Amino acid sequence: MNIRPSRFALSETRRIHVSFEFFPPQTAEMEQTLWESIERLAPLAPNFVSVTYGAGGSTRERTHATVKRILSETSLTPAAHLTCVAATREEIDQIVRNYWDIGVRHIVSLRGDPVGGAGAIYAPHPGGYENAADLVAGIKRIGDFEISVSAYPEKHPDSPTVDADIDMLKAKVDAGAGRGITQFFFENDLYFRYLERVQARGIDIPIVPGILPVQNFKAAANFAKRAGASVPTWIAERFHGLDNDAVTRKLIAAAVAAEQVIDLVDRGVTNFHFYTMNRADLVYAICHLLGLRPVGLPLSQGERERV
Ligand SMILES: Cc1cc2nc3c(=O)[nH]c(=O)nc-3n(C[C@H](O)[C@H](O)[C@H](O)COP(=O)(O)OP(=O)(O)OC[C@H]3O[C@@H](n4cnc5c(N)ncnc54)[C@H](O)[C@@H]3O)c2cc1C
Repeated sequence: MNIRPSRFALSETRRIHVSFEFFPPQTAEMEQTLWESIERLAPLAPNFVSVTYGAGGSTRERTHATVKRILSETSLTPAAHLTCVAATREEIDQIVRNYWDIGVRHIVSLRGDPVGGAGAIYAPHPGGYENAADLVAGIKRIGDFEISVSAYPEKHPDSPTVDADIDMLKAKVDAGAGRGITQFFFENDLYFRYLERVQARGIDIPIVPGILPVQNFKAAANFAKRAGASVPTWIAERFHGLDNDAVTRKLIAAAVAAEQVIDLVDRGVTNFHFYTMNRADLVYAICHLLGLRPVGLPLSQGERERV
């Protein structure tokens, strides 16, 4: 295993900012896991915590309920994901107005997957928003929300080329998006090459890397296939033979994610968005490695000497 000692000092890492993504729980047990994870991660003072959205009625309600509970029971800043799938403009606008009324000020604005699932042909809902850029504009008309949007270092599977994909990102920025959050990736060079192309296109919003600590390699590989993200052979090799060894899998997952974020920091990245999958332990450990400490925890002697 090749964990390089971090070249950055903890005093420098005070500049590091993180956000955490959760999905709305489907069962009472999942709800308990989610809230234990939120409680564990909250003291790391993330910039925001986001809650994903599904277009179906019950999933939609679970997103709203989770966002509402974050607002009422924590001091965290929630960001509500929203897609324009299977809904009219009026329905979406009502959701956005409700969010504004309860105090939500950050929306992650997405087109969403077609009703037939990822890979099916996407058609806008009759009377609905056309795409993610159109949705960004609609949200901005309702309130001065902070808006984050998706960004794809390896291009979205629907997009014919990386340039076409970056055109869509530009349209979302022109409509008012202030931050891109990337699909997860495992090869950091992909991210930096993408950043170069995005900047060459005149896009100057932060493009925050989305980091997926691999809790379950098979599930991550399946998800990556649908999302158009590549899984390098070296990652598959690291998890090979560990299907029945959860403890070692978790240690390997921590090592892989640690290598990735340390390399990103060494190359100048200071903002990270973590796909938590509603689990705190790996993300907490990686944040610790990045120098984040629970707010209020006294500094160690070494840290005091460095600041
Ligand atoms: C950070 C992040 C968070 C996400 N959160 C959620 C979530 O909460 N809920 C959820 O359901 N999904 C979520 N997704 C997945 C996302 O909804 C899907 O990838 C969806 O297929 C595309 O939505 P988008 O907003 O990323 O698309 P866009 O950015 O609008 O489009 C992506 C690319 O596809 C191209 N494209 C779009 N439509 C067409 C078309 N009709 N024909 C040809 N090309 C087209 C665009 O030009 C662009 O290049 C998330 C993805 C990311 C990266």
